[in-house]
Amino acid sequence: MDLPVDEWKSYVLQKWSLLPKSIQVTISTAETLSDIFLHSSSLLQPEDEMFLKRLSRGYLVGKDPNAPLFYREEGNKKFQKKDYMGATVLYSKGVSHSRPNSEDISLCYANRSAALFHLGQYETCLKDIVRAQTHGYPERLQPKLLLRKAECLVTLGRPHEASQTISDLESNFAAKPTLAASQFQVLQRTLCRLKVKVQEKENLTETSPAALTKALEDMDLREENEQISSTSSSVSLCTDPLKGRCLVATKDILPGELLVKEDAFVSVLNPGEMPPWHRGLESKWDTRATNGDLYCHRCLKHTLAPVPCDGCSYAKYCSQECLQQAWDLYHSIECSLGGLLLTLGVFCHIALRSTLLARFEEAGKVINKLCGEITNRDTCLPESKNLAQILSYDLGGESKNKGKTVETPIPGCDINGKYENNYNAVFSLLPHTGNHSPVHKFLCALSVSALCRQLEAASLQAFTTGLRSSKLKAAAAPVLYPELNIWGVAMLRHMLQLQCNAQAITTIQQTGSEKNLITNSRQVRLATGLFPVVSLLNHSCSPNTSVSFISTVATVRASQQIKKGQEILHCYGPHESRMGVAERRQKLRSQYFFDCNCPPCEREKQRPSQGPGREAFCCHRCRALLQGYDVLSCGSTSCTESVSRDHLVSQLQDLQQQVGMARKLLRNGELERAIQLLLGCRHAAESFLLAEHSVVGGIEDDLAQAYAASGDWEKSAAHLQKSLRVVEVRHGPTSVEMGHELFKLAQIFFNGFAIPEALNTIQQAEKVLLVHYGPWNDEIQELQKMKSCLLDLPPILVGPNQ
Ligand SMILES: [Zn+2]
Ligand SMILES: [Zn+2]
Ligand SMILES: [Zn+2]
Ligand SMILES: [Zn+2]
Repeated sequence: MDLPVDEWKSYVLQKWSLLPKSIQVTISTAETLSDIFLHSSSLLQPEDEMFLKRLSRGYLVGKDPNAPLFYREEGNKKFQKKDYMGATVLYSKGVSHSRPNSEDISLCYANRSAALFHLGQYETCLKDIVRAQTHGYPERLQPKLLLRKAECLVTLGRPHEASQTISDLESNFAAKPTLAASQFQVLQRTLCRLKVKVQEKENLTETSPAALTKALEDMDLREENEQISSTSSSVSLCTDPLKGRCLVATKDILPGELLVKEDAFVSVLNPGEMPPWHRGLESKWDTRATNGDLYCHRCLKHTLAPVPCDGCSYAKYCSQECLQQAWDLYHSIECSLGGLLLTLGVFCHIALRSTLLARFEEAGKVINKLCGEITNRDTCLPESKNLAQILSYDLGGESKNKGKTVETPIPGCDINGKYENNYNAVFSLLPHTGNHSPVHKFLCALSVSALCRQLEAASLQAFTTGLRSSKLKAAAAPVLYPELNIWGVAMLRHMLQLQCNAQAITTIQQTGSEKNLITNSRQVRLATGLFPVVSLLNHSCSPNTSVSFISTVATVRASQQIKKGQEILHCYGPHESRMGVAERRQKLRSQYFFDCNCPPCEREKQRPSQGPGREAFCCHRCRALLQGYDVLSCGSTSCTESVSRDHLVSQLQDLQQQVGMARKLLRNGELERAIQLLLGCRHAAESFLLAEHSVVGGIEDDLAQAYAASGDWEKSAAHLQKSLRVVEVRHGPTSVEMGHELFKLAQIFFNGFAIPEALNTIQQAEKVLLVHYGPWNDEIQELQKMKSCLLDLPPILVGPNQ
């Protein structure tokens, strides 16, 4: 997803292997990014571009005139089955393939409004009704739409507007004597019912929904740092000869304190599983819901009612405002390149978007340097020494930087030493050019070249207007080509930077079905972004912060107490509670090019005989830890048991297969069978796995789900508490994993009316989740609702076994 699709990757790999040795050597040993780019770019042949074009065409990114009807009918089927969520997604897909101001688009919006109505999304429903009307909803169908509008307004407690809509409706009837008598009666009856409701609601005040913006406003840094934007004054930016830039605490920091709150400089929504080739599928229109259907392509907000770009079917937004902003900032250039960008992957897309955003930064010194030097001196790129200098932080001791940029001692800072969320800071992130393999650099350079050629063909004019505003106008046409090359080099730099600096923007998705009432949450990757301030944080396998996201804003909170002078650290992925030391170090070396020396790594390196820790096997007789490699023997002195590792591993595989089957049963609602199978699994697990083994925890968690689904809250809680103990041992009592597990337990107690237990667990869950997410987290909001609901219960219900 991040890198180009496999077909293009293997194509480039083959092209590379067929290059004469001398050219391979030239590219491998090129000193600067611009050399790499220009050499690779000159090798891009028309047939390569043709191949890429064929791949791009596999993505359905344009508007297909036959698709709206298909999606509307598929949506109607779901609607009839009362699957309103499914229907909403399909109508959205219909909308995105419709032309503006067509009957297609208005019908899709109108149908979507009906589904949203059933989902209780009245505000959004109203918006869709307006959209249907502005795009020319057929006159003959208006009454249905107006009725829905009136119902929404009544439910939302806006009686005045509802009355207005009702009188519109009545005049609509009066104007249409042709309406069938039966239809007229139905409408009349609904009208009467509505009028009564309006009267009931007349006195109610309007509700104000807690909006996203409010959440972000409320979550402010206590005191903003003067040296680093978006950062609290409790930290400062330092450089370390070994680590390069790092953030250090300037005072004692308490758990939960907000340290960084930074909006992404750039972000690109990960499209999700978007099947490129529809050859094998029955229908060329995909009916599955992907990230691209459910989240705004600009602000990443979850939305059930996206509005599509007028020019393509793949870019969708939460609102007209986001649509317009995206268009002005980057989408006007990207719109026609959808297929190519999906083929070349998210990193390439971010690289392009970063340079597009850079056009708008007047203060961006790098930009001025980049194009100023070139155009003023009217030289070609390779000879421009200044450019080469700017683009050559990348070879060898980058962090040391050998004083090349005299005025800025810390890379990325401006002359006054201030580090900001801007293109200058993004540009200063290290591309680690010397560490990437030659063929990887070739792949990136060739992909960027292909993108540049397309840009040149499609909309060079538009691309360059933003950046060359007034002073460069004189230079006009002759310099356009080298100018695009500069952007190519910048894009190549970004593509290489992203491997170490890309930040996955995640969200917590709730996966529980309506039936079992318990929501399982899991973290999913929503988008990829660049956050120059968050990028200042170095890695630890046992970090002292927690990163989370609202919209495109990243927040970093202290997850434990941090003493003055300590470094602020976060985890790049390989966390000590999820991966063994060897696996972690391997991953950090191959992706991030460094050897981790964090305390857990040092500790584990010194005691390599420790084995795989909590994932270990135990003796089936005495439950002591089994020790050894190929043949393991019992650690207890009084026991002589021994067993081969192969045997244990195959036993574990069998068990995991059984658990997989049980989960399938659980998903299909065959609860009784699932429970029997899971109980068997647990029994089998007890004979050879430690009680803290993740598989044991997983089985207990599944059992809790199964009992909850069958309404046995007591048993469900008992099993979840066992799972909770495993999570506590593995991840620690204040970990975010613990928070999610406590949240589930609170739901179970709540549903089972175990009031004291519920209140107690709610309090624990809140405490843990607050540290990691702050007060605007969905789960915390939900916990608070549960709490106030329990506290409001009449005393008679608070007795036992109610
Ligand atoms: Zn948006
Ligand atoms: Zn578009
Ligand atoms: Zn480590
Ligand atoms: Zn034993």
